[in-house]
Amino acid sequence: MPIVLTRVLAGRALYLRQLCAAATVALGVLASASHADPASQPKTPSLADPGPNLVLLGTAGGRTSWRGSQSAGISSALAVNGQVYLVDFGAGWLRRYFQAGLGAPPPGRGLESLRAAFITHMHADHIVDYPSLVLFGASDGLAERRQELKVFGPGPRGKLPPASGGKEGVSEIVAPEQPMPGSVAMTEALYRAFAADINDNILDSRKPNPHSRVDVMDIALPASLRVDPDRDPAPVMEPFEVYRDENVKVTATLVNHAPVFPAFAYRFDTAHGSVVFSGDTSPHANLIGLARGADILVHEVIDTAWVDALYPKPRNPAQEAKAHHLVHSHTAATEVGAVAEAAGVRTLVLSHLAPADNDPSRWESASKDFSGRVIVGRDLQWIPLATAVHTREQRSSSAAP
Ligand SMILES: [Zn+2]
Ligand SMILES: [Zn+2]
Repeated sequence: MPIVLTRVLAGRALYLRQLCAAATVALGVLASASHADPASQPKTPSLADPGPNLVLLGTAGGRTSWRGSQSAGISSALAVNGQVYLVDFGAGWLRRYFQAGLGAPPPGRGLESLRAAFITHMHADHIVDYPSLVLFGASDGLAERRQELKVFGPGPRGKLPPASGGKEGVSEIVAPEQPMPGSVAMTEALYRAFAADINDNILDSRKPNPHSRVDVMDIALPASLRVDPDRDPAPVMEPFEVYRDENVKVTATLVNHAPVFPAFAYRFDTAHGSVVFSGDTSPHANLIGLARGADILVHEVIDTAWVDALYPKPRNPAQEAKAHHLVHSHTAATEVGAVAEAAGVRTLVLSHLAPADNDPSRWESASKDFSGRVIVGRDLQWIPLATAVHTREQRSSSAAP
């Protein structure tokens, strides 16, 4: 496979200026990459560029309401040959999709170019705006697609996770008849929950049944794999293929986001480079194996000092449980560089920033132990696999979905 991205080994360039710029511009205002020579500035990226282009739609990890942060929830896209592949449906992804220019140009209506989507795991910050796809997708172009949109995601966990710190004081669970649904069951539950709207649109506006436009699949794990998610939700394994078409081959692996199971990382291989999305995970051999030699690794990151400030000691059992999950099921800024180095990737892109409104200097330790390039991700950032970084002008006048 041809590799078109030159390995950047000269220093540990952390592009904090980009983040500073993003932090000081309000939504709707042009934010442009500042590090590049104007003569070499790429033209405004668009779907017309065959790419591949990585497009960050939302970069916030967890809730998006951190002290007024403007970042949308976690969602990323890969644009290849005019087709779009989406990873996760965080808060505001659909608005960002159009703001990023991924909607088809007129007479297109928006999502015609969305070819396939991939859910990493069932935590709400990754799927909270998934309903936007099935509720508004038909109006936004899915009805015009010749092929169904493919959605791949985790299947059901199989059993409830154990109560952290014991059962004492734990609230009653919801939906005991199906307490840990996977992607297919979640989608069917959404259709039931929004049946009044969906059926109104089928009958009054002659919109198609969403089943005919969106084909959702629970990802089947390799048959040889035996997993007890309570003991080890990510046993060491080889990546396995999930999807393939003329533009991309997508492989996946289990990552450790205990007690979540399954939690996936995805790798997209194209004719002109490769991108890996970590999903939510602690540092893990499976992720390193999946990302081996990739051009870009988009990796989650958390500031553990922020966790300590959020949950100062002494902690009650609920605070201890939350802090434990944040520290042990995610990857600290001080750890992520070693992951990228072990995988031998060329560029590390930090996303799923926790917290999203962190001081830029708090991410500097991500370049520790990594000899490649580090980019602190921000919403609407286009990152061509072959060249530099560019942020598309936000088209506020046409942004509202
Ligand atoms: Zn998350
Ligand atoms: Zn998560």
